[in-house]
Amino acid sequence: MRIVRFTTGEEPSYGVLTGDLDEYGQPDEDAVVVALVGDPLYVGIKLLEKEHRLADVRLLAPVLPRSKVVGIGKNYAAHAAEMGGPVPDEPLMFLKPNTSVVGPGDAIQYPRQSKFISFEGEVAVVIGRICRDVPAEQATDVIHGYTIANDVTARDLQKTDGQFTRAKGFDSFCPLGPWIETDLDPQDFIDGRRIQTYLNGDLKQDGSTADMIHDIPALIAHVSSVMTLLPGDVILTGTPEGVGPMEVGDEIEISIEGLGTLTNKVEARA
Ligand code: MG
Repeated sequence: MRIVRFTTGEEPSYGVLTGDLDEYGQPDEDAVVVALVGDPLYVGIKLLEKEHRLADVRLLAPVLPRSKVVGIGKNYAAHAAEMGGPVPDEPLMFLKPNTSVVGPGDAIQYPRQSKFISFEGEVAVVIGRICRDVPAEQATDVIHGYTIANDVTARDLQKTDGQFTRAKGFDSFCPLGPWIETDLDPQDFIDGRRIQTYLNGDLKQDGSTADMIHDIPALIAHVSSVMTLLPGDVILTGTPEGVGPMEVGDEIEISIEGLGTLTNKVEARA
């Protein structure tokens, strides 16, 4: 099932996106959003009869984390190499504030304090249950679904600050979307899903989720051994090689097999 949050100009609502995806992972022209009652993370699925053509709605970030977005650094060896330094033995954890989340089509705001902001295309795991100390073999039980993230990073501030809070924490530095896919499994990503990032139409990242050093169950076990995870929390699973700078006016598209395409533009922060 593909769960969206959307608006038609009124209050945001959840819905289920129906129809097939084309070879590029885009919904077909007849795609319809069937509205849902309430929040699928908390009340389960109740379909309304109200339907909208996808073309008539604006998609929003499919989840608004009430508490946190947990990032994982250097989880693909080739990306660790391009950043310099060794691959960490354990998953390298950091936090992005929930206020960094924006949706498909929203602007990434280029902050005044940075001269180098980078895209990082990543699989995002959405947590569905309150949990702590989750064994890797039970990770599937706590996963609500998967979406795409752009772990936007001010690379210069990451270096000068010596830690990640400012570099990864600006408003708009965590685009999420376009929907949450609930029918995939961690094994699908271990087997390998193609992950690609295009900057103004040019292919910049072209990796496979099979190359994650720590797979999704291992990440959930690791993170939940440190902090309680809540429904709607998001774990970013790291980016493959090919990261690079974005400029004001650029358009960034991240496509992951089975998860669609997340598109955002860069604007100067007012
Ligand atoms: Mg990242």
